[in-house]
Amino acid sequence: MSEPAKEQTLAEKSPASYECNGCGYIYVPSKGDNNAKIASGTPFEELPSDWKCPVCGARRLQFSNIGATDAPSGFEENLSYGFGFNRLTPGQKNLLIFSALAIGFLFFLSLYGLN
Ligand SMILES: [Zn+2]
Repeated sequence: MSEPAKEQTLAEKSPASYECNGCGYIYVPSKGDNNAKIASGTPFEELPSDWKCPVCGARRLQFSNIGATDAPSGFEENLSYGFGFNRLTPGQKNLLIFSALAIGFLFFLSLYGLN
């Protein structure tokens, strides 16, 4: 295996996904379309001209470019995980920490009680 010499653009690394305007089906290039024997990794632009939406039969013209949905970074997921905790007020965070300590203390007491 030899690496391709030419440098790939970001768009080539993660081809855009396309959403069907009719039913919301999303064609993801990295998945392809098993029903139509489209191999995974086939960009939307290279689908056969007679390809249709597998859900509602809409033609390719009725699909909208929604950008890459399968980028490998996972950055957006991390962002939302962090956001959930950061939305808590400092008071709520203290309450969470105090509750955890209190539960730990009660657990310790119950263990102690058994002996
Ligand atoms: Zn559709």
